[in-house]
Amino acid sequence: MSSFELTVWGARGSISAPAAANKHYGSDTSCIELRCGGRTIFLDAGTGIVAAGRRLYEAKVADFDILLTHCHFDHIMGLPFLIPLYKDHVSARIFAGHLLDGTTCREMVNDFMCAPYFPVSPKQFAADIDYRDFRPPDVLDLGDGIAAKTFRLNHPNGAVGYRVEYDGRALCYITDTEHEVGTIDAALVEFIAGAEVMIYDSTYTDEEFERYVGFGHSTWQQGVRLCKAAGVKQLLLFHHDISRTDGWLEDIEAKVEAEFAGARAARTGMTIAI
Ligand SMILES: [Zn+2]
Ligand SMILES: [Zn+2]
Repeated sequence: MSSFELTVWGARGSISAPAAANKHYGSDTSCIELRCGGRTIFLDAGTGIVAAGRRLYEAKVADFDILLTHCHFDHIMGLPFLIPLYKDHVSARIFAGHLLDGTTCREMVNDFMCAPYFPVSPKQFAADIDYRDFRPPDVLDLGDGIAAKTFRLNHPNGAVGYRVEYDGRALCYITDTEHEVGTIDAALVEFIAGAEVMIYDSTYTDEEFERYVGFGHSTWQQGVRLCKAAGVKQLLLFHHDISRTDGWLEDIEAKVEAEFAGARAARTGMTIAI
């Protein structure tokens, strides 16, 4: 069986939250690294991708893909600081499919890395970068037997969920999405069905959710309901609210484990074999 594993480089949502009280679960924003055989694929480019990029550079990895869920800052903020993008021997592909107004992935990156907000433009990237646009439910053929299925999520300004399939196994990355209280999205259940792991937007709890309707996020309890309905084996709570200290997340983790044996809260540095 080919190796298929994930590393969490950032599990925080909205903005990074550096504090001693957040040390265990980490402070960096959304970034997951997948290694499929010899291939490297990033899910989102939040602040967590900065440390990941240093590791890639040291390991002399010169080819990778980045699949963006959307371009809210917490999911792209690390991109301008991704060292391999400034190296001319590197090839990378950046995918975006959330944009609703016809903006392309290349235009989005240009618009984000520009004066007076940022001093370096993407023109200064020395790597060979292929910006790719798609529309959910397109299936992205990433080569070497890796496919990424895509699913439109319910989030302000749009977002895309991914199901990455490799060597007979699947990992789903469903973050920045709001559920409708009391319902289970049948199309989402079908999309995640039978996956080994689902990483899920667990910004809130059911108990507090009423206050946050319309914010575009979900709850860990909805993640459990989806996993149970879809036969997903492992659940990783993700996109932790910046107010969630280690103690708070430990409490949530104990509660979720009691309800679903395959559940954990994502933390920076965690690696899981899929
Ligand atoms: Zn977010
Ligand atoms: Zn967002």
